[in-house]
Amino acid sequence: MTALSIVVPCFNEEECVRLLHGRLSGAARTTFGDNYEIILVNDGSKDRTWSIMQEMSAADPHLTCVNLSRNHGHQLALTAGLDLARGHRILIVDADLQDPPELLGPMLEVMEREGADVVYGVRRSRAGETRFKRATAHAFYRLLSSATEIDIPLDAGDFRLMSRRALDVLLAMPEQARFVRGMVAWIGFKQLPFPYDRAERAAGESKYPLGKMIRFALDALTGFSSAPLKLASHAGLLLSLSSLLIIVYIGYAFLTGRNIQGWTSLMLVVVVLGAVQMFVLAMMGEYIGRLYSQAKNRPLYIVQDIAGAARTPRKMLG
Ligand code: UDP
Ligand code: MG
Repeated sequence: MTALSIVVPCFNEEECVRLLHGRLSGAARTTFGDNYEIILVNDGSKDRTWSIMQEMSAADPHLTCVNLSRNHGHQLALTAGLDLARGHRILIVDADLQDPPELLGPMLEVMEREGADVVYGVRRSRAGETRFKRATAHAFYRLLSSATEIDIPLDAGDFRLMSRRALDVLLAMPEQARFVRGMVAWIGFKQLPFPYDRAERAAGESKYPLGKMIRFALDALTGFSSAPLKLASHAGLLLSLSSLLIIVYIGYAFLTGRNIQGWTSLMLVVVVLGAVQMFVLAMMGEYIGRLYSQAKNRPLYIVQDIAGAARTPRKMLG
């Protein structure tokens, strides 16, 4: 059995993949000698990522490259790679080398010493990221942990070393909206943090524009918490209390012969009620949309080609 599989989702990473391949191979060789495989997943890149991958895989028997039929998103591209991994241990990293592959050795040491199934990287610091990114990420992990019942580690990305049995459980989970780091936390077993300093992107720009970040956050929240659905009851309670206060105030005004101004107060009530209702409906919509896509039960991803490491694909549809 292959001792280690390294899995990397790549989207428009033409400037990073060669460097990535070199650093991954070096780290794997140092720790596992010749007994490793690297799986790069091209997530429908528009640049030269796939052709570079093909060139590299022709020259390196350790390398398998998977070409998805279109951009499926970070978490599904990662899942496609994990589905192909045959290793006894599995390392997940980002293509931009923000997660130093050289930490493989120390992470493995923690895993073996402590008998853990998962060793996950926790970002002690984040170099070269915008203030906006750091602030939203900080708020996101805290909001998520306050809304969920399971302990999803704060400030941990997908950078992690996993055991085969943890990966098998992960891959047996059929959900379509995948928030992998939360799903891994949900599995249980012994999981240990590994603090590290997150490096700057090796080249290029973040492949996570605001729209993708919001979708990612909503997948996490709806996948691991029903707290947003309970907002309706909280809002209902609050509005009922406010309506009681308003009734008392109207009675008081009537008895003391005061005139209450109409337009402002009516407008306020209409706008606040409208906003609360729309917000609650939108939250329900997020869950219903995900129920719908789960009910359709389409494959998670579609593999177009596989290059390298001579073998027939285990799965073309995820
Ligand atoms: N990625 C992907 N598909 C996408 C967006 C991103 O496979 O649609 C990959 C990307 O190539 C990288 C990882 O996901 O390996 C994380 O993306 P990025 O580094 O741009 O995110 P950031 O570090 O800025 O949060
Ligand atoms: Mg990055």
